[in-house]
Amino acid sequence: MKKIQMVDLQGQYQHIKPQINEAFQSILDTAYYIGGPEVKGFQADLEKYLNVKHVIPCANGTDALQIAMMGLGLKPGDEVITVDFTFAATVEVIALLRLTPVLVDVDKATFNMDIDALKKAITPKTKAIVPVHLFGQCANMEAIMAVAKQHNLFVIEDNAQAIGADYTFSDGRKQKSGTMGNVGTTSFFPSKNLGCYGDGGAIFTNDDDLAHTIRGIVNHGMYKRYYHDVVGVNSRLDSLQAAVLQIKLPLLDGYCAARQKAAKFYSEGFADCSKIETPKISDFTTHVFHQYTLKTNNVNRNALHQHLLDKGIPNAIYYPVALHAQKAYADDRYDEADFKVTNDLCKTVLSLPMHTELEEEQQQFIIDTILEFCK
Ligand SMILES: *Cc1c(COP(=O)(O)O)cnc(C)c1O
Repeated sequence: MKKIQMVDLQGQYQHIKPQINEAFQSILDTAYYIGGPEVKGFQADLEKYLNVKHVIPCANGTDALQIAMMGLGLKPGDEVITVDFTFAATVEVIALLRLTPVLVDVDKATFNMDIDALKKAITPKTKAIVPVHLFGQCANMEAIMAVAKQHNLFVIEDNAQAIGADYTFSDGRKQKSGTMGNVGTTSFFPSKNLGCYGDGGAIFTNDDDLAHTIRGIVNHGMYKRYYHDVVGVNSRLDSLQAAVLQIKLPLLDGYCAARQKAAKFYSEGFADCSKIETPKISDFTTHVFHQYTLKTNNVNRNALHQHLLDKGIPNAIYYPVALHAQKAYADDRYDEADFKVTNDLCKTVLSLPMHTELEEEQQQFIIDTILEFCK
């Protein structure tokens, strides 16, 4: 059996090695490292794939969130509601911009934003909602968009973990994750579902004015060369990364299918074990399994984590500490009683190896090892 990895980027590269090497060689030959034709090409390809009017590439997924918030003109003191259970980048940029983060609990079945908690958190100062499509499935966007409409709020989708997922509205309309709110953001970090070979990110929107504003912000606030109309940042996707993404985008649906197949294999393997809970998928979204995350309801999570490591099975705890309990984001405003689900998830979640190159033999070994432990 091949050594099990949490993600297998070398294995994935082997399938596209000639195209990647050729694209890199041609960039080396032209030395067009910044703003090469690959960047515009990828931008257009991604607009088509997502069926969105504007894709603005940038340097990483954290920048994408920050720039989206800058583009919307959010001001210090504005309250921005996001989830307590996510990667810190989501709340970090809110704090960096001197906006006020308002953390809310998540749904215990899907780990995504709890709609009642969202409604409860709205105040006259609320300006925006940032749902995170955690682990690969969409948050309840129909409900979130309805709340946003009622209170006149912006919606910024943090789509770093769910690119390629499809959302179905109750009228049957389908949209790609990240294209439903005012603006969506993603990350092309190597281990993400659509990853490049370094850092990368993008912002999506159907709003022409917002797209124009954001195109200036990513480029030092310039709309005309050396005329700086607003305070901007320097955040670009470079040509080498865009070349990788142009090669990988046509493969994304296949990558998602491989992850879904692996997820199904795991879930069938664990079907008869009552001590662990397999991922639940909402009926309004597909799940592209950025992570395959178990809940260890009746077994010691930390002991299982260590046991798997001892058996050569990598696994990870995403996330071990709720954001409201992190030193950087703790605040007297928060009440522990409002974070029951997140607090529980931080103690019980365990993510298993999940990538496009997993083999059934490896998965069977992981399943057998866990079932044996749960006996
Ligand atoms: C990865 C990730 C980010 C940040 O992306 P980077 O490209 O690493 O900056 C933001 N939000 C979520 C939910 C993520 O998983």
